[in-house]
Amino acid sequence: MPYFGTNGIRGKLDLFTPEFASRMASAFGEWCGKGKILIGRDARTTGEMVESACVAGLLSSGCEPVLLEVVPAPTVEFLTKSTAAAGGIVITASHNPPDWVAMKFVDKEGIALSKEKGAEVERIYERRAKRVEWNEYKKTEKYPFAVRDHLSAILKTIDAGKARKRKLSVVLDCGNGTMSGPAQLLTREFGCEAVSINSHPDGFFPGRNSEPTKDNVQDLMKTVKELGADIGIAWDGDADRVIFVDEKGGYVIGDVSFALCVKIKLKEKKGYVVTTVATSNAVADVAKEFGCKTLLTKVGAPYISEEMRRVNAAIGGEEVGGVIWPELHYGKDGLMTTAKILEAVAEKPLSQLAKEIPVYYNSKTKVPCTGEKKAKVMSRLKATAKGGAVISLDGVRVDMKDGWVIARPSGTEDYIRVFAEAKTAERAKKLMQEFEEKVLGAIKEV
Ligand code: MG
Repeated sequence: MPYFGTNGIRGKLDLFTPEFASRMASAFGEWCGKGKILIGRDARTTGEMVESACVAGLLSSGCEPVLLEVVPAPTVEFLTKSTAAAGGIVITASHNPPDWVAMKFVDKEGIALSKEKGAEVERIYERRAKRVEWNEYKKTEKYPFAVRDHLSAILKTIDAGKARKRKLSVVLDCGNGTMSGPAQLLTREFGCEAVSINSHPDGFFPGRNSEPTKDNVQDLMKTVKELGADIGIAWDGDADRVIFVDEKGGYVIGDVSFALCVKIKLKEKKGYVVTTVATSNAVADVAKEFGCKTLLTKVGAPYISEEMRRVNAAIGGEEVGGVIWPELHYGKDGLMTTAKILEAVAEKPLSQLAKEIPVYYNSKTKVPCTGEKKAKVMSRLKATAKGGAVISLDGVRVDMKDGWVIARPSGTEDYIRVFAEAKTAERAKKLMQEFEEKVLGAIKEV
């Protein structure tokens, strides 16, 4: 049975027994070729159990575990690369509910293992990793200043001076996740006057759901408005993603903040922009303004990272507020993204910056379709899609002059999701409805 999804292994305690975590960690250790393996985790109640299991598994396969303890996921990715470790394990279920557990694995360059690379680890897991002899065991180390080292690398790439002069007032919503602590350290470097909510790490997530959707950050939006702050910032549980609230208390969607980051980056250095087939055209439009090309990948952060490394891209990211800055590492980094946005907001209010990004409307639905039928329906759609350029990297996407539409099978549920984007809400809805009809037709035919 495949354990790896698009980005690591995710499940609950019925899967994540100590035996499972330990055996998988030792398989990963062998895949890395031994050496130092960094381990970071989020604040979930199960984190220490999984961490201890990973330590035992890694030691048994001759690796040297290095404990970062509770840190943002991008801190592990950055340090795996910058300290020349053999690999990294992040124990975090990101934005999932508190009873979820997950392990994300990164290679020596800090790039998360895709499903395909994960299959190589699974093969070692199935036959069991080779155990070393008693006289070959290594020691476990601690790395206590991980976040500080990550932050100082970020600050080297940023001009924090302008922000310091502006004394921005910020409201931080750490969502009781791994940014509780690092958020205050980061904004202090920018001379911000910060007010924090949900700012202690707590595996029960008492403050809000861990995913920073608009519904989940209502308290932040209200607080920014009431305090007259310059910006509100909210991270997901493992801080690879971040979203922003403008000075009027308005939620800035991830597509817009990503497009804004693309603009900031391409102003500094031109190059390829890499994102997935599900990202707004606002991103490609911004790239075009700079004469730069946007390359599309399958949905899933590891695919973006690999493509970015291949073409030596300037910037990449996903539609939900996860941005990759290759000057640091190839993982989505919610700390670096925050730093870059603060630098920009020191010069211009966020609402104005957001207004300069092209506006798109979208419309979505899901069509029930069972597991075994999904693949047949998708190949039928691929064969019959018309009306524009067809992209079948992941699902079936049709690009037209005034918008695009995509149908993708859900990886976890019995649905095919249909999503359309256009310059007007009406057109987006029409595109969505037409493609929904096509999906329904294909379901009948197969
Ligand atoms: Mg996350």
